[in-house]
Amino acid sequence: MIVINKIEDLRKIIKKEKLEGKKIGFVPTMGYLHEGHLSLIKKAKSENSIVVCSIFVNPTQFGPNEDLEKYPRDFERDKFLLEKEDCNILFYPTVQEMYPDGFFTKVSLNVLTGKLCGKSRPGHFDGVATVVTKLLNIVAPDNAYFGLKDYQQLLVIKRVVKDLNIDTNIVGCPIVREKDGLALSSRNVYLTEEQRESALSLNKSFSLVEGMLLKGVKDANKIKKEVIKYIEGFRFTKIDYVEIVDPETLETIEEINGNFLMALAVFVGKARLIDNNVFTIN
Ligand code: AMP
Repeated sequence: MIVINKIEDLRKIIKKEKLEGKKIGFVPTMGYLHEGHLSLIKKAKSENSIVVCSIFVNPTQFGPNEDLEKYPRDFERDKFLLEKEDCNILFYPTVQEMYPDGFFTKVSLNVLTGKLCGKSRPGHFDGVATVVTKLLNIVAPDNAYFGLKDYQQLLVIKRVVKDLNIDTNIVGCPIVREKDGLALSSRNVYLTEEQRESALSLNKSFSLVEGMLLKGVKDANKIKKEVIKYIEGFRFTKIDYVEIVDPETLETIEEINGNFLMALAVFVGKARLIDNNVFTIN
């Protein structure tokens, strides 16, 4: 695996590979890699001849009181894990390389970003859309891989790619969980052992919803209330949002009569955790 810090160096290599007819797969990350990230690398490896992974903790997607400074980082460990997966290129730019002095452009959406995480993290998705647009322009991959863990992010990126005619196929990949159901996240390192128990309330709440659906409950607000009560029953939890929405538009659903997405954001101690599940109704 080669490590590249400069945009121009990466472009040169990609150009050469493309001339040789190689298919490029791309996995953008903020590092501190876990099996969730590695599942994207594995999928990219199976569908492309060259896999590029980027590690960049993107400052523009963090709010002023968020964990940008404290975000966990371990470059040597990440490099080791990527080498083990046979990743071909690791792109590891500095903030100055990605946002040189005089950088003034922002990619901003009028849809999808006003709700869920976009509501509690104003500007977050502009930061995501901007950096992903830049990365896709730099790497120019045939395929780019994103986790359904960040469901809203995936919809935002698909929208940007469509609207701006970016010539990359966006692939959504399933959420990787621990054995007990906790969705893997770099932020799980913030959890103490006791808090980790409480963090399980997020994924456990999906079984609660299944149970209510089996009983024929159709009132989305009733389901939301039960989920909130359930999660609040665990220590250290503070709910940011519990929403039941249309899986395509993210519009709020009142009455369940088709597939829906339940998306959650919950503070457990210092960690803000997100999880989601698409429920299919036959
Ligand atoms: P991040 O480093 O948190 O920006 O995540 C980089 C990519 O990995 C994003 O596409 C995430 O959706 C994806 N990802 C993070 N956690 C998981 C997980 N538990 N399962 C699947 N994909 C994940």
